[in-house]
Amino acid sequence: MTLRSDLGNAWEAHRHEDPVAVNPLGITALLLVAFAAFAWLAVRKLRIVACLQPEVRWDHPGARLRSVLVNGLLQQRMIRGEWKPGIMHTVIFLGFVSLLLRKLQLLAIGYNETFAVTGVAGGLFAAFKDLVEVAVLLAVGYGLYRRLVLRPRRLEPNREGLLVLFLITAIMLTDFAFDGCRFAILSGTDAGIAHERAFAPVGGAVASLFQPLSATALAAGYQLSYWLQMLTVLSFLVLLPVGEHFHIVTALPALFFRRGGPANVVPGVDVERLMSDDADATAIKVGVRTAADLGWKDGFDAFTCTECGRCKDACPTFLTGKPLSMKWVNDSLKHHLLDNRGAIVAGGKAAEELPALVPGVIGEDTLWSCTTCGYCEASCPIELEHLPRFFRMRQHRVMMDGEFPHELKAVFHGYEVQGNPWGLPADTRGDWARGLDVPVVQSAQEVAALDYLFYVGSAESFDPRGQKIAKAFASILLAAGVRFAILGPGEPSTGECVRRAGNEMLFQELAKKLVETLNGLGVTRIVTCDPHAFNSLKNEYPAFGGHWQVMHHSQLIAQLLREGRIQVEQQLERVMLHDPCYLGRHNGEFDAPRAVIAALVKDPPLEFPLNRQKAMCCGAGGGRMWMEENVGTRINVLRTEQALAIAPQVIATACPYCAVMIGDGLKTLGKEDAVITQDIAELVAARARRRPADRASTRGQAP
Ligand code: SF4
Ligand code: SF4
Repeated sequence: MTLRSDLGNAWEAHRHEDPVAVNPLGITALLLVAFAAFAWLAVRKLRIVACLQPEVRWDHPGARLRSVLVNGLLQQRMIRGEWKPGIMHTVIFLGFVSLLLRKLQLLAIGYNETFAVTGVAGGLFAAFKDLVEVAVLLAVGYGLYRRLVLRPRRLEPNREGLLVLFLITAIMLTDFAFDGCRFAILSGTDAGIAHERAFAPVGGAVASLFQPLSATALAAGYQLSYWLQMLTVLSFLVLLPVGEHFHIVTALPALFFRRGGPANVVPGVDVERLMSDDADATAIKVGVRTAADLGWKDGFDAFTCTECGRCKDACPTFLTGKPLSMKWVNDSLKHHLLDNRGAIVAGGKAAEELPALVPGVIGEDTLWSCTTCGYCEASCPIELEHLPRFFRMRQHRVMMDGEFPHELKAVFHGYEVQGNPWGLPADTRGDWARGLDVPVVQSAQEVAALDYLFYVGSAESFDPRGQKIAKAFASILLAAGVRFAILGPGEPSTGECVRRAGNEMLFQELAKKLVETLNGLGVTRIVTCDPHAFNSLKNEYPAFGGHWQVMHHSQLIAQLLREGRIQVEQQLERVMLHDPCYLGRHNGEFDAPRAVIAALVKDPPLEFPLNRQKAMCCGAGGGRMWMEENVGTRINVLRTEQALAIAPQVIATACPYCAVMIGDGLKTLGKEDAVITQDIAELVAARARRRPADRASTRGQAP
């Protein structure tokens, strides 16, 4: 008899004496307890979600499944955001998925100790499993190093995160120990287990290491490693619904049920019905007051947040010390939902009596600090939705409570009376163009002859800084022979900022007027220098009957340069672009302004460290342009400091609000004479040449 068969026989003798040996009863009892606890805890949480407001989240299933594949299974956003922790997480995730099969094998062993997967598949699986477990251990080692040594700012101390890394380590190590004992004891008497041992590099090596141990020691090791591993795995299962690692269960469904579509569309309110005499109108929800007003996906997102903190990396409010990061918001909402589970599930009067979310759960400063820049959504690896719930909370504060930052009162009044945030006389809207060769159109016949309607917007019509940009852009269009015109005093406002400030009623009034005007004139193509107007006209106005082709001026200028309809001298050096959030992140246009700059510079353009998808906001969006910034440091100053660290000669902008914010940042830092900040239209206009011969030939050719 060989040593292995001796051990095998000794094991047989031993297991009949030992009351804790692997046995079907034990494993069945453990499974029942663990799965019952998991189901009870998970259902308790998901029941809250099911009692929140209904939303349809299953249209376009193909696109939804694509998100599950790309950002769920392939973890694209996770890796693209920051590759080292991204790879770490991906390895752990894929290891987790792959090793589910191994856990099924262990369960089978719980019922039949000699269970083994035979043949080529069994051998390959044994090898694959060992390699995956080693990769997971390396990834966990990096995770621990990151949490305990590197300590990135976005990762706050988190005991659950550490506990989970230790649990994963324990599962991997006990699995190797179990294979070592199992192979050492049974590979001599069981051909299937011998086959597995031959293919398992780590398990086989551990078995060779353990082989000299006594049969009793091996038997004890076998039992200990098996039960420890099963206990750890099943404790992990029970832990999932209790903490942030519930995302292991909910992340893929969250990706499937994601919003999709344009990122920054504000949820509408049926204002017409609300204002009608219809008795049912009182049932219309205006925004979000309590937790029970949240949509089910809002609750699901709060329970799915992984607390990875990626949403904080370029969040301007977090970076400048304001009490807002969406990670914190999710955490607050999650605890509030759990604390008020009874009332939410009971519904009716109990739900109506829930405390208001603002300011009890979400502080006023938290709600109103948000610039709606969208970084938090764009960076979230599992596409959680943050902005819509904030817009809806603002809607309730403004339209139902009448509570909002006092500066907005003048802004709303200005729009109500004069159609602009400054409340300047509406009939002076086109005054900036006086003395210029800029046509003003009033009839559909005139509009029909245009290539583009230049939608100027309030910032460029009334603010002196914006007016310079409008003049520069108009001069480019004139030089390129583009047939364009403005509406002058007849131009209605988009109301984009009042919508983001929660005044949906006023926005819809403005929207109605704008759609009637533009459609009445037969407008089809619009160009604007304002990314906020661009976003609103392009993405929000279709819901109000406005279906136009909308271009940003950076796109049109880039096109005119490409086609040679304007030419510029490459004179500038050390130019960097500040990406406007509403052009870049919200509409995916990063290249057009860079193409314009590339035509102007002698050397390669510079980049902010936080650029493109990760660009930090200037601080003006979401109505913040008109609000004081009393908490933390100023966002525009931090953004300007980020630029100055790269020592540019020119900070280029592509938005009238950014131009003001960066200009103010330079003034605050005493650098307004050392560094130029100009819109790309101003940079081009100052350097544009046009061949006279081209001028006549361009009429009638829309770029
Ligand atoms: S939208 Fe921008 S400012 Fe608001 S929380 Fe997200 S990252 Fe921060
Ligand atoms: S919201 Fe998204 S990015 Fe932010 S902590 Fe949660 S999972 Fe991470």
